[in-house]
Amino acid sequence: MIKSILITGCNRGLGLGLVKHLLSIPNPPDKLIATCRNLEKAKDVQLLQLQPLKLNLNSDVTDFNSYDDFKLKLENILKDDGLNVLFNNAGTSPKSTKLHLVKPSQLVDTFVTNTVAPIMLTKTLVPLLKTAAQKNSDKPIGSQRAAIINMSSILGSISENNTEGLYPYKCSKAALNMATKTLSNELKNDNIVATSIHPGWVKTDMGGPKAPLDVDTSVKGIVDLILTLSSDHNGGYFQYNGKALPW
Ligand code: NDP
Repeated sequence: MIKSILITGCNRGLGLGLVKHLLSIPNPPDKLIATCRNLEKAKDVQLLQLQPLKLNLNSDVTDFNSYDDFKLKLENILKDDGLNVLFNNAGTSPKSTKLHLVKPSQLVDTFVTNTVAPIMLTKTLVPLLKTAAQKNSDKPIGSQRAAIINMSSILGSISENNTEGLYPYKCSKAALNMATKTLSNELKNDNIVATSIHPGWVKTDMGGPKAPLDVDTSVKGIVDLILTLSSDHNGGYFQYNGKALPW
């Protein structure tokens, strides 16, 4: 069971699917903090009626000046228990990024959302993750103590890359993978697991209608994986169904 989990980018796509699935499992999290950047757009999340679970809206992951305030709000929700799981899910991918079309702004903006934000949010919230890891020292290493999940993509794998284009997205996710590995080295002694996950190619706004996987299949696999995380997953890169991937 996961006591508390924070997921970014929950108003649609995989983030929304993760929230819905976590609410449907036999032991849902005590505290599920689903964030999204625009309350007005988040009708589907509002409909979920998360009470008594806590819902915290309005968090643009690139609004770094709001992070300290956000941490205070989170501490109010979590009290002294800390945060068990930080799931950096929010992500973006510009279209038309073949070499002759790619623009500096696309590379930079995608890097800020997909790489800088997960690192900075982790930096801000790591004290809460450390608290949860310490307070649950009788539990096995994994999501019952503390874990950071970075939503990566197979497109961030250097060894699996045999396609052209998508420079902003591929580079940002490869860099996110490096962040995961580095976090795993840095936080290992704090008993915090850091893992990159590839959700599969999924039918969402980003994945498009030709994607072979539906959201439900992907999020079910991801939640099963989170529930069974162990020290073996620290610094690893896994597909939604638990298969280990090459960096
Ligand atoms: P969607 O495009 O459907 O959803 C993206 C989500 O991220 C939205 O909720 C969006 O919010 C949010 N988001 C984007 N930028 C920000 C921001 N600055 N602040 C807060 N939220 C933001 O994509 P998916 O659900 O498919 O993707 C989710 C994650 O999974 C991403 O990290 C993606 O890279 C990854 N992934 C997806 C794959 C797929 O096939 N679908 C494959 C591999 C990886 P808003 O509505 O406000 O824009």
